[in-house]
Amino acid sequence: MEVAMVSTRASLLILILSLCSPYKFIQSPMDFGPLNLLPTTTTTASSDFGRILFHSPAAVLRPQSSGDISMLLSFLSGSSLSKVTVAARGAGHSIHGQAQALDGIVVEMRSLPAEIEFHRGGEGQVSYADVSGGVMWIELLEQSLKLGLAPRSWTDYLYLTVGGTLSNAGISGQTFKHGPQISNVLQLEVVTGRGEIVKCSPSKDADLFNAVLGGLGQFGIITRARILLQEAPQKVTWVRAFYDDFSIFTRDQELLVSIPDLVDYVEGFIVLNEQSLHSSSIAFPASVDFNPDFGTKNSPKIYYCIEFAVHDYQRKNTNVHHVVEVISRQMSHMVSQLYSVEVSYFDFLNRVRMEEMSLRSVGLWEVHHPWLNMFVPKAGVADFRDLLMDNISPDSFEGLILIYPLLRDKWDTNTSVVIPDSSGSTDRVMYVVGILRSANPEPEDGCSHHCLQELLRRHRRIADTAGARLGAKQYLGHHPTRAGWHQHFARRWERFAERKARFDPLRILGPGQGIFPRTQ
Ligand code: FAD
Repeated sequence: MEVAMVSTRASLLILILSLCSPYKFIQSPMDFGPLNLLPTTTTTASSDFGRILFHSPAAVLRPQSSGDISMLLSFLSGSSLSKVTVAARGAGHSIHGQAQALDGIVVEMRSLPAEIEFHRGGEGQVSYADVSGGVMWIELLEQSLKLGLAPRSWTDYLYLTVGGTLSNAGISGQTFKHGPQISNVLQLEVVTGRGEIVKCSPSKDADLFNAVLGGLGQFGIITRARILLQEAPQKVTWVRAFYDDFSIFTRDQELLVSIPDLVDYVEGFIVLNEQSLHSSSIAFPASVDFNPDFGTKNSPKIYYCIEFAVHDYQRKNTNVHHVVEVISRQMSHMVSQLYSVEVSYFDFLNRVRMEEMSLRSVGLWEVHHPWLNMFVPKAGVADFRDLLMDNISPDSFEGLILIYPLLRDKWDTNTSVVIPDSSGSTDRVMYVVGILRSANPEPEDGCSHHCLQELLRRHRRIADTAGARLGAKQYLGHHPTRAGWHQHFARRWERFAERKARFDPLRILGPGQGIFPRTQ
């Protein structure tokens, strides 16, 4: 082992000299002792779901254990030779190169052994799963359902890694009830930028724990997470209701999030055109008889859809259909425009996979995705809708615009995640709006480089205006300048920078976010 360590250190030194050299001389896998460090031979590490930025790293680490990551980071943080940076890469579903490391090292977290260990709590105790940072949520769901258990808080799409979503927040229709995924973690194992392996929790090394949650990969690499579980329902009643009035739509959404004892999931989307109605319905297995008039190009008419769900398990002595009826009687959707269907819990959670398959089959999955996600204070959501409509053409928009309420008090402000300030308002509610746009470069009249840049410019205009006027904050955001990041963090900047100085003083980690340039 001693010899292997020495040989690894020598080889790392050679690697770093190579990375610093204008003539990159590593052409084939090198002997890094126990470290599986490879030159980049594939484009995977230099691309992501966004297909907007393609930054090639100099090498890729395929770790077999936390120790491998620790060895790399200890070496880099103890060497004054280089400015090499390191990015953890989960499933690579970022939009703006957040998991990329130009000329640095990408750590492929999916290489870690996919360990999942369950602990079922007795009466009055919690159940949880200890999972590797590179495990995808779909893998955790498949295993936990065998025990009748499941995590409480989700993302819409499950082929994302535990480490990747915990570095952001992890939100979906359950967030109003259980908080984001970062509010459902009991403990983490983290390799800091200094190379130390630390187990942290709200009661041990709490500052590191809080820093890493929503920390955009800046403070450490999550190698293990303890995820809170609950008893899994078997079936879900999934309901959609349509609206032609925005204020009634949001009023009903707010009604639903105010009755968490009855409702288990709340989302919603804007129905801009036939395509958005069709594509959002791929996974919804009920026959929907909604054929609205979308108006004309010069005078478009748009609609809204609320999606909510009720689990069967909580209501062992109550008929779920009766619960849905009680809820829907209080709603003010368009007459006869409410549809419901019963599906398995697994199919409900995995619904976006069906859309993925459908898009893949017609070549529309691997296209540009200029997405913009924003948290908007309740008081500004109607203005945000107007701003959005001033900047998009409903008839030609491809993709989906999600919009649903979240509750502020489910978010822990000690973590690194940034949500809008309440600015003295007593509103519990804020909204997330996701402009999930696809831009296909393929057909002759498709969205080429110029068109993509124009869409990105428009999104930036929306984000800047909503930030300045409404106090909105980007989620999963990208800020091209340091000033932009300062503005994003605002009064939270000092704490964020102080945590960086403590846990990753040489600024080795997370270069793709563009927050801290690497120092010696
Ligand atoms: P990557 O893209 O690989 O990495 C993201 C960031 O986290 C990078 O900065 C990376 O360096 C860092 N990172 C990755 N792994 C680790 C680790 N182990 N430790 C420390 N840092 C790490 N998000 C939601 O909240 N809700 C949704 O409903 C939702 N739906 C989505 C649907 C689709 C189709 C897609 C493409 C994305 C969706 N997202 C959603 C966004 C998604 O949560 C983020 O992009 C997330 O970062 C993706 O996880 P990943 O494993 O692909 O991370």
